Amino acid sequence: MGNIILTGDRPTGKLHIGHYVGSLKRRVELQNSGDFEKMFIMVADAQALTDNFSNPAKVRENITEVALDYLACGIDPSKATIFLQSYVAELTELTFYYMNLVTLARLERNPTVKNEIKQKAFGESIPVGFLNYPISQTADITAFKANVVPVGEDQLPMIEQAREIVRSFNNLYGETLVEPKAVLPENKSCLRLPGTDGMAKMSKSLGNCIYLADSADEIKRKVMSMYTDPNHIQVSDPGNTSNNPTFIYLSAFANDGHFQRYLPDYTNLDEMKAHYERGGLGDMKVKRFLNNVLQETLEPIRTRREELAKDIPAVWDMLREGSHKAKETAAATLTEVKNAMKINYFD
Ligand code: ATP
Ligand code: MG
Repeated sequence: MGNIILTGDRPTGKLHIGHYVGSLKRRVELQNSGDFEKMFIMVADAQALTDNFSNPAKVRENITEVALDYLACGIDPSKATIFLQSYVAELTELTFYYMNLVTLARLERNPTVKNEIKQKAFGESIPVGFLNYPISQTADITAFKANVVPVGEDQLPMIEQAREIVRSFNNLYGETLVEPKAVLPENKSCLRLPGTDGMAKMSKSLGNCIYLADSADEIKRKVMSMYTDPNHIQVSDPGNTSNNPTFIYLSAFANDGHFQRYLPDYTNLDEMKAHYERGGLGDMKVKRFLNNVLQETLEPIRTRREELAKDIPAVWDMLREGSHKAKETAAATLTEVKNAMKINYFD
């Protein structure tokens, strides 16, 4: 049996270049390799509501945006099933049964949850739905029997928790669920792309993003005002490239062809980094090059996105079709789960 792949994104905003290098690019490569049995891509609207419940309109609007981002990046609905989480009610039912297998202390110990609670300033008033989201994410993964989950580094604790739930379930009720494995980007710079402000993670909630849909002018403006090495004041000063988002972005995006086209002073990034580190390379030059690299990478995505945005009803038709298909698969798993738990009373 081949791999079953599941990934998803929260429709809390448009997708950004962190999503692209962290997960989206890998999904498109996997999809085009043909080396899988099934591939599901979930727009996690129900999960987005756990911390945006007072603003469902925001989530609704961003479903369209995320779907456009997928298609623009090359996700092909004839190969990958794109679906809406809330449409697949079976996921909620699975969540309910998995909730019995997890303690409150374990949820509170989840490092990503801990971090996000702090970031969202919930204080003592943590919504139960939010705290529960690692369990609901386990339902999402297991409903499709996904064994491969391509994600950014921040999601590792989620996958670990999912594996624990699967093991508990299988131990208690018999082999039913499949243990998932996270697949991280191979390029270290892509594990957790920092924000343009130098914060550890580019994130929709932090407003430090370059979006796939940004215009050429917006990209340029954002790149030119990026945080760099604060101690690199004079061009002649030695600079730091490892904590410097401009160089991290270059490691994620630049190839030797970009140097030939836009900055033939260097043959590759290592040479450019060495120059910055010993001093004599100014931030403006780095940013101009980064801008060229990003413009070249994002232009075709943006153009395709603009084309697709002319027919939004077609995007929603695609989502409807994918959601129906996903629901069938999840329903079959739910039946197996209920059989395993012997709560299939009327069968
Ligand atoms: P939010 O702030 O609403 O949580 P987000 O920007 O973190 O949004 P998600 O929808 O939570 O985005 O994440 C979707 C996927 O993208 C996950 O696999 C996550 O690991 C990955 N991802 C998100 N941000 C980055 C980043 N900066 N670098 C690498 N991968 C990322
Ligand atoms: Mg997130």
